[in-house]
Amino acid sequence: MTQVFNFSAGPAVLPREVLLQVQQELTDWHGTGMCVMEMSHRGKEFTQIIHEAEADLRQLMGIPSNYKVLFLQGGAHFQFSMLPLNLARQDDTVDYVNTGHWSKIAIKEARRYANVNIAASSEDRNFSYVPDEAGWKKTANAAYLHYCSNETIGGVEFPFIPDAGNVPLICDMSSNILSKPVDVSKFGLIYAGAQKNIGPSGLTLAIVREDLLGRARPETPTMLDYKVQADGESLYNTPPTFAIYVAGLVFKWLLAQGGVRAIEQRNIEKAALLYETIDASGGFYHCPVDRANRSRMNVAFTLGDESLDDAFLEGAKARELLQLKGHRSVGGMRASIYNAMTVEGVRALTDYMREFASSKG
Ligand code: PMP
Repeated sequence: MTQVFNFSAGPAVLPREVLLQVQQELTDWHGTGMCVMEMSHRGKEFTQIIHEAEADLRQLMGIPSNYKVLFLQGGAHFQFSMLPLNLARQDDTVDYVNTGHWSKIAIKEARRYANVNIAASSEDRNFSYVPDEAGWKKTANAAYLHYCSNETIGGVEFPFIPDAGNVPLICDMSSNILSKPVDVSKFGLIYAGAQKNIGPSGLTLAIVREDLLGRARPETPTMLDYKVQADGESLYNTPPTFAIYVAGLVFKWLLAQGGVRAIEQRNIEKAALLYETIDASGGFYHCPVDRANRSRMNVAFTLGDESLDDAFLEGAKARELLQLKGHRSVGGMRASIYNAMTVEGVRALTDYMREFASSKG
């Protein structure tokens, strides 16, 4: 079997141990003679799978008992609409922090449903930093304050949790959830598409404080009402059962690694290897993001001479270092190094980067 290192931003690399377990259990889950894909979502086998997934996630993230864990669909995009529909009225003000591509899309959608106040933005310097919280223009009675803790495309990560006071704090944690410990009690709601640190696409996670349930506007589609999903224990309709099963295995894998505190140490090590290689290259490689806000998950960088981009990508591919091209909206390169990327994979990439630079230098 070919050993590759997959630096895709998402869907992204999954732990090999998990994939092998899926393969082993594919046609016969725990002696049932059935694949999880073939099971009733209301049967006792799947009930066990979803309950264990939730319990393991609660343990990993230390989720307090007054929060519901929802296994939803529709990606993070559906959350962009679900949020204002559930938590704001048309003439309410909702605060958003704009730190890049995904913030902007969330803002655009929220504008359809409420008055959006941009509390802070880093657009003035091409989304290369997180604005200092001291200068944010927050609305005292906002329906909520929304931010994206890790901008997957720009490679910008918040090094702090904003202080929203009594306003519910909402976070798009799609690309750095489970990468480090987070105090869930500071949030009203956290959401994340699964396809980076959780499991297969098709599953979306929401962690909602209970007092925020039951506030949806009357016109909210039933499926998009957090309370309906919470009351139905994520089984209001047929959920993405196989994706939930795989996510559950990823949670068990994470627990076996020592949980989020242990994985954070590895993530720090991996990110340092890459940023040090970039910074030591004498300008051959360049990271546009302010040091304090550089993402541990998505390392965005450019080549000083962009005419070498194609050669860089071809050489990488020859070494099985895959999916390094930056997002089409920004160009350059991006190495996504989620929890399942090994230190060995990052070392293979930094070795290649140094060799490529000296061969062209
Ligand atoms: N937010 C962030 C931070 C993301 O990285 C992505 C996807 N890459 C999205 C939202 C959109 O996610 P989805 O495709 O699951 O709707």
